[in-house]
Amino acid sequence: MYTKSFTSLANPNLSTDNPAFEMRFRQTKIIFTIGPATSSDVVLKQLIDERVDICRINMAHASHEWTREIIRQIKRVCDEVGRQIGIMMDIKGPEIRTGDIGEPIFLEPGQLFDLLMFPAATDAGRDGVFYTNVNYPNLINDVSVGDTVLVDSGLIRMQVCEMLEDRIRCQVVIPGLFGNRRHINLPGVRVGLPSLTEKDQGDVAVGLEEGIDFFALSFVRDADALHSLRTVLTERGSKARIIAKIEDQQAISNIEEIIEASDGIMVARGDLGIECPYEELPIIQSQVITACIKQARPVIVATHMLESMIAAPVPTRAEVSDIANAVLEKTDAIMLSGETTTGKYPVECVKVFKRISQRIESLHTDDPTKGLHLPTPKGKMLRSAIYLANDIEDSGIVVFSRSGYLARMLSALRPRVPIYAFTDIPELFRHLLILWGVEPFQMEFSADPEDTIKDAFEYLKRKSWVKPGHTLIVISNALAKDKIIDTLQIRKVE
Ligand code: PEP
Repeated sequence: MYTKSFTSLANPNLSTDNPAFEMRFRQTKIIFTIGPATSSDVVLKQLIDERVDICRINMAHASHEWTREIIRQIKRVCDEVGRQIGIMMDIKGPEIRTGDIGEPIFLEPGQLFDLLMFPAATDAGRDGVFYTNVNYPNLINDVSVGDTVLVDSGLIRMQVCEMLEDRIRCQVVIPGLFGNRRHINLPGVRVGLPSLTEKDQGDVAVGLEEGIDFFALSFVRDADALHSLRTVLTERGSKARIIAKIEDQQAISNIEEIIEASDGIMVARGDLGIECPYEELPIIQSQVITACIKQARPVIVATHMLESMIAAPVPTRAEVSDIANAVLEKTDAIMLSGETTTGKYPVECVKVFKRISQRIESLHTDDPTKGLHLPTPKGKMLRSAIYLANDIEDSGIVVFSRSGYLARMLSALRPRVPIYAFTDIPELFRHLLILWGVEPFQMEFSADPEDTIKDAFEYLKRKSWVKPGHTLIVISNALAKDKIIDTLQIRKVE
């Protein structure tokens, strides 16, 4: 394998100076998080031109007014550029935060620190014990003596040493500067906060009004959290897709039911790496990707993929390997966070993602996913389509979709060739953008399936995806006398 890759590196057709390399079809999708570094029309246009697939809005840092404005701006810029991208609203879910303490304080090892369940306890701060309140008064019923409390992504570590009537007394183990409204993690603790907080419900309402395509729900611990959000969406008549963010040990324990109840998964490595021992992270990532592919759910690998590029124009060698690893594992999408919210090189980060993805994708083998359960004859037809298309030079698979099901199944089989998915539903077009190897197109369908196939081929030729002489595998309905039947066709582009 390595000999082959060294050979192809020497091949001028694959060199990074060759425009064909830049233009080439990419299987791994790119999500970027919008922020001050990317919210000008100019940068947004550059990112859309670089073929990002989805824009994420992190509601941890967004007001409703800004959110509405930015969604409208993204849609306007997409219209101006002539290319649509999906929009994902990332809602915070059950997050525990400390209160305001005024000036930051430095916590020394051994210092006692009280987490107050109710603000303004009269004797708070007595005997040199520092204190702050938390946004979740029931926390006192969830933790026990000996539990770990991590502040600021683990920069400060405390241990619960005493449970008092109205407060949790902790002792500082790893020192650090403690500021206002800090996010705290409690590894291994089952927190009883509702999965959809009041703030989340307000955020979802804004997302629904503005036509969001994906909701990413933070700290999903079980399938019920997803059912609750699904009920809200269904009641509002929304088909937005729900992405479950996997961030703690409880989510890992319930991973199969969470995958099944979701429309996709995000391996949120930031919090996950705090809530779980960090050496477990690569194993969890790999297992979650495999489980998602088996259940035909898209999966996103997120956080710290190009962290050094917040300040530097080139990635570290370790970051290159991390991205390559996610691509080799066949994740559907890779995500940028701080790199594109406040980083100095947002467009370069997308270029780095593309360059590494395309190079590493060229190493993929052509074995369709074995574990994917496809019990029906139609499912088996999809697997046959992959074998056929993989075996034909310069091929691709054309599929027509109104629910997204066929495109999702084909994607989960991870073929080597592009899946050209046509739909006449604008929202579905944007939902398809997250799927590995799927190049979606929006087009009117004709009453006669044959006319629809012809239109799709013309479209693909016009946009230079295929050339006359290429062979495509088409999965479509066909009229057989007065019946509509499923077909798998081998068609030449004329
Ligand atoms: C993460 O923790 O990795 C993540 C993506 O979530 P957030 O950015 O909301 O912390």
